[in-house]
Amino acid sequence: MMPPVMPTYARAPLEFERGEGSWLFTTDGEKYLDFGAGIAVNCLGHAHPKLVEALEGQARRLWHVSNLYDIPNQQALAQKLVDATFADTVFFCNSGAESCELAMKMVRKYWSSDADPERAKRHRIVTFEGAFHGRTIGAISAVPGNPKLVDGFGPLLPGFDHLPFGDLEAVEAAIGPETAALMVEPVQGEGGIRPGTMEFLRGLKALADEHDLLLVFDEVQCGVGRTGTLFYYEQLGFEPDIMTVAKGIGGGFPLGACLATEEAARGMVPGTHGSTYGGNPLGCAVGSAVMDQMTEPGFLDEVKRKASFLRQRLAELVDEHDDLIEEVRGAGLMIGVRFNAQTAPVGDMVGLAYDQHMLTVPAAENTMRLLPPLNVSDDELNQAVGCLDAACRAKKAA
Ligand code: PLP
Repeated sequence: MMPPVMPTYARAPLEFERGEGSWLFTTDGEKYLDFGAGIAVNCLGHAHPKLVEALEGQARRLWHVSNLYDIPNQQALAQKLVDATFADTVFFCNSGAESCELAMKMVRKYWSSDADPERAKRHRIVTFEGAFHGRTIGAISAVPGNPKLVDGFGPLLPGFDHLPFGDLEAVEAAIGPETAALMVEPVQGEGGIRPGTMEFLRGLKALADEHDLLLVFDEVQCGVGRTGTLFYYEQLGFEPDIMTVAKGIGGGFPLGACLATEEAARGMVPGTHGSTYGGNPLGCAVGSAVMDQMTEPGFLDEVKRKASFLRQRLAELVDEHDDLIEEVRGAGLMIGVRFNAQTAPVGDMVGLAYDQHMLTVPAAENTMRLLPPLNVSDDELNQAVGCLDAACRAKKAA
């Protein structure tokens, strides 16, 4: 009999009951190497002692208090994020989609409060094909190119110009008197681990400056240490005005955040936005512990070192299986293995990796995502490459 859960996911027949570090244990006592990490969520692996301590300690003191009151550890986490980034101010929510919704609302509010009546009309947001901003009506309206996401959910919201990722000329041509912002996922995750080129991302910043537009970065998947810096924008030499964050910031506890400069957030005055659970004491206690680990001296250097080690090992794998693997791409420990769609459909490869007791996540463009915990060991990286090698061999033998 079907469980009474809406069947919106095609689930693998695996049931996990416990996790430790980079490993998950099934109810049958089998062990799996977790290179999906809850889709870039468990950034410090499973049951990290510091995160468990933070959650347990907070659970004994106070679970929930309304945002009608000051929440000290919400303020403490906001301070940590502000200290570590371009941002002056933070709104906490519970997920990536909520964070993206707020980013879009903030853009509209920013311009609607402009003293110049012409500029106050600005509301259109330029977005990019292959991006993913979540499943709310706003988030699917922003990137309407994927029928799986949008079919049957119309009418979608107006106000988006959805353009090819990487095409600066198209962006320039689309900018008009009603354009308010450019919104980009700088390393596309669901889109198949596609980093925007430096030229494209810097070009967006130049266009935003030239036309006085807000620049919104969606770092829900690529942020929080995943690419070797705390946030990806740090590698580009410029800053966004608004940035969406979720997944890794809670290390597995639901937590999202929308970061902004004081200027970009100027419209967000009392009463303009809210969330019952956003910034709750439990989530913020865990988020603070995540930030403490990420900002430990040397932590992010290790992420970079492990990333280049894994990329080196994967280059060997490509040499060995160039009939199956087209390319390895990504940034830091956000890696995409793009398989040949004819010889190695990604669904098959993810299944064959399951057979090797390794979890990975499929993405667009026939790409397998490798998103290990950032504190994965070299030995586990080697084991992962061994599992992928065995999966490729099994594919050839089939
Ligand atoms: N933005 C990006 C870049 C994402 O990868 C995701 C989720 O995969 C989201 C937004 C939506 O996040 P959530 O599923 O927490 O709503």
